[in-house]
Amino acid sequence: MLTRFSILFSVLYLTGPAFASHWKYDNEESWAALCLTGKKQSPIALNEFIATKKDYHPFNLVGYGQINTALLKNNGHSAEVRLHSSAEVPTVTGGGLIGTYKLDHLHFHWQSEHTMSNYRFPLELHLVHYNEKYSNLTEAAQHTHGIAVLGVLFDLSPDDDEDFKPLLEIIASLKETTNEHKVLTDFSVKNFVPRDKAGFYRYEGSLTTPGCNEGVIWTLFTSTLPISKKQVKIFEAIQTEEKTTLTKNYRSLQPLNGREVYLRVSPIRENNGNIQTWTFPVALSILCNVLYSLGNIQKIYNSEC
Ligand SMILES: [Zn+2]
Repeated sequence: MLTRFSILFSVLYLTGPAFASHWKYDNEESWAALCLTGKKQSPIALNEFIATKKDYHPFNLVGYGQINTALLKNNGHSAEVRLHSSAEVPTVTGGGLIGTYKLDHLHFHWQSEHTMSNYRFPLELHLVHYNEKYSNLTEAAQHTHGIAVLGVLFDLSPDDDEDFKPLLEIIASLKETTNEHKVLTDFSVKNFVPRDKAGFYRYEGSLTTPGCNEGVIWTLFTSTLPISKKQVKIFEAIQTEEKTTLTKNYRSLQPLNGREVYLRVSPIRENNGNIQTWTFPVALSILCNVLYSLGNIQKIYNSEC
């Protein structure tokens, strides 16, 4: 019995993404061994100067537009969304991925884990997929390229994002309740993926939570989605299992250690001669970031940023 328990514990501890719950963002130095010694860890700082341009085939997302029932949960580390088991599982191919990857779940980080051009965004969504040749995420996490994550960055917008409203109403109601599901009807994954999926960064990294399993294929779209400051605050109010506010749920940036980072430039942006989203909200966000680094963020964040 003891041996059985030990094996079970080891599996849960090593496989991490959904099960290893006794870790905290404020003491990364005591995370699992691989998190500290791994050479291909995530997240990383992305920018066009470290990236090699590469022309991948376009992504093919199947089933993302379906309207489904979703189950929402505050897992103590993030807000998590899973499609109801009756839903047809959305899949992704193309975009340089080898094989077909099934969507396992979505979860959010506030602020972003990856930075892009030295800017940390207010929110990052991870759409976690696993290769269909494995039976689930836990098994896939044991294999190189078993997991592929599509990362979506959010920019501050003056207006609430309508697609977020039903999701955020439920997340707000779950802020003090960990590990309990609430049902969201009429959920479409498509609303949480940028329309322009042609531009993205690609590199090989890891899960960003313990056990930090490596061999994860990362995609970060260069096109962003909007979210308002008020909506970000709903995420920031989420509490941990210990009933403390989860003010920070992003891991610190990890060294590249000689890894290749690739960038597929969206033809839309290439025609504009610009691969960055230099819209007003982004420019404002960058200004906010500078002010943040100067220590004035609280005042600014409460007014314009
Ligand atoms: Zn994540």
